[in-house]
Formats: sequence, C-alpha cells, structure tokens
Amino acid sequence: MNKILVIGATGQIGVELTAALRSRYGADNVVATGFNQSPGDALVKSDPYCHLDVRNAAALDRIVEEYRCDTIFHLAALLSAVAEEKPQLAWDINMNGLIHVLETARMHRCAVFFPSSIGAFGPETPALDTPQVTVQRPTTLYGITKVAGELLCDYYCHRFGVDTRGLRYPGLVSSKALPGGGTTDYAVDIFYAAVASQHYDCYLRADTRLDMMYMPDAIRAAVRLMEADGSALRHRNAYNVTAMSFTPEQLAAEIQKHIPGFRIRYKVDPARQAIADSWPRHMNDEAARVEWGWRAEYDLPVMVKDMLEQIELKLHKG
Ligand code: NAD
Repeated sequence: MNKILVIGATGQIGVELTAALRSRYGADNVVATGFNQSPGDALVKSDPYCHLDVRNAAALDRIVEEYRCDTIFHLAALLSAVAEEKPQLAWDINMNGLIHVLETARMHRCAVFFPSSIGAFGPETPALDTPQVTVQRPTTLYGITKVAGELLCDYYCHRFGVDTRGLRYPGLVSSKALPGGGTTDYAVDIFYAAVASQHYDCYLRADTRLDMMYMPDAIRAAVRLMEADGSALRHRNAYNVTAMSFTPEQLAAEIQKHIPGFRIRYKVDPARQAIADSWPRHMNDEAARVEWGWRAEYDLPVMVKDMLEQIELKLHKG
C-alpha cells in the first residue's frame, strides 16, 4: 500500500480508518472521499480530499488515475436499517458502487478492501459459533448486497487477479463519528444518552444478543488484513472477525457500574428487532486468527470505560 483511496471516508468507520491510515502511511498518501458532506466537516477541509458519488464510475476512475492509487478501501454503502427503507437505492449504491470499484481496481491494478457484515447471514445460519463457511441466506436487502458483494469480490480475484480482501464485521461501537443507520446503532446511542441524560430508550429487546466490536479493533483488523501476506489467505472475501457478544441489558449493566443512576427502557422497534433476530450472536473467527493473526484487544468492560471517557470529553469539552 503506497497510495490509498478511502471511499466513504466521512462515515463511522471511514473517519477513524482515514486517520489511522494517514498516521501510518503519511497524510499525503491517503486520499479521502466523501458524499453529501457539510463543507465544514474536518475531513472535507483536509488534504487530499475529493467529493465522490461511487455510482459515478468515470469520476472514480479519474481520482484513482490522478492520485495513482494502488489500494482502495471501499466503505460507501447504505446500512441495514436505512437499506430496508430504501431497498432500490441501497441496491444501486451497494452493488453498482462495488462493481465500479472492482472495475476501476482491475483497470488500475489496485487492491480492494470490502467490508461485509454479520448481516450477510440469515435465520438459517447457526447463530452461535457461526462458521466461516456456512449457510448465507439473509432476509434483508442489506444482507443480500453483502453476500453478493463477497461473491463478486471473490470473482474479481479468481477471474481477473484483483487482490480483493474483506471482513465480516459485527456491530461496531465508536466515539468519533455517529453510526449511519444500522441495526446495532443502539450500542453507540446509549453512551450519548447515558452521559447526557442518564436515560435511554432502547429499540431492541433486553435479551437481544449480538456480535460486537470496538472501533480500534475494527480498524486494526482492516489494516492488518490488507498488510497480510496474500499467499496465506484462503478465505479472502470475507473473514469472520469478532471481539465480544452482549445484550442491551448487559451493556446497560456495564454502564451502570460507572453511572449508577443510568436507566434503560425498552421500546421495541419491530423492524430493527426482526433484523437483529436474523443475525448471528457470535461468529467463529478462527480462519482470521490462523491465516493472518487476528486477535481482538477490547472486551466489554474495557470498551465501556473508554467509550464513556470519550463521549464525556466530546459532550462536555470546554
Ligand atoms: P456509514 O453510513 O457511517 O458511512 C458510509 C459512508 O458512505 C457515508 O460517509 C456516506 O456518505 C457514504 N456514501 C453513501 N452513499 C454514497 C455514494 N453514493 N457514494 C459515495 N459515498 C457514499 O457506514 P459505516 O458504518 O462507516 O460502514 C462502512 C462499511 O462498513 C459499509 O459497507 C458497511 O456495510 C460496513 N459495515 C459497518 C458496520 C457497522 O457497524 N458500522 C458493521 C458491518 C459492516
């Protein structure tokens, strides 16, 4: 990786990934692109930065050509809850965007990182210890685009020799950028509510156990996978990676250790509950451990302590 393009750099993952890549590879060597951003956004004012709608193949090609990019981190997508509200738009952005990225990568010989998700699994998949290779029949449009995306990335690797690599992320918890409309957003929102008002109305049932990860681990996983020896990678698209598995009730109890007055109420949203109920509780990530040395560093107590400190700083600074 010498010249890196990050598509969707202003999103929940992109903000932290771009910062990590810029500190590792040099700011000049990481081109951030965003879509529908406010001009005041810190990344928009950074350099190099370009506006990009990933559905515009010619614009994507021009940026890769101009900056001579050799690696693309493709993060632009509509997430699970939003995609259920706008399925046609989600198909357009998630699938046409990806194929433009893969075609550009083929023409310019770029490596590609594509994040898949626990959403690529469905109700028929084993929910516990979910194997690396298993049934993938998701019931959401988001999940369908993730399965198709994994397969398309495999295809471009086998058929055209494009160095595609991917991760199946669990729900991600982070303090820098707000989440973009996924089913696990509650696990971020709850921290803002706890710090601001000591009260949170949760849209998932108390006992909804899901696979989760703290953003620093998610960023480390992406960078480590892209830096790994390609000859050791058997399951390129995409690796199960996991760090912890918890319910809203358990997360609230962990927050109460720091904020004893914190209270949670459950006002279940049937649409998001149905999505969550179709996803794995905990994936098996042995293939990632064996093939490229993956290991998570953050568990629930460490993550909760750090999140509360970060959100406290963010909300009460100055
Ligand atoms: P996000 O919604 O926070 O960010 C996505 C970014 O894509 C946004 O900045 C948005 O402006 C951009 N975008 C939307 N449409 C675009 C278009 N037409 N052209 C260019 N950019 C466009 O999402 P995120 O959480 O950062 O997720 C990034 C990737 O990781 C997605 O593929 C997502 O499916 C995957 N993922 C995320 C999670 C999670 O919990 N956050 C979990 C599993 C997988």
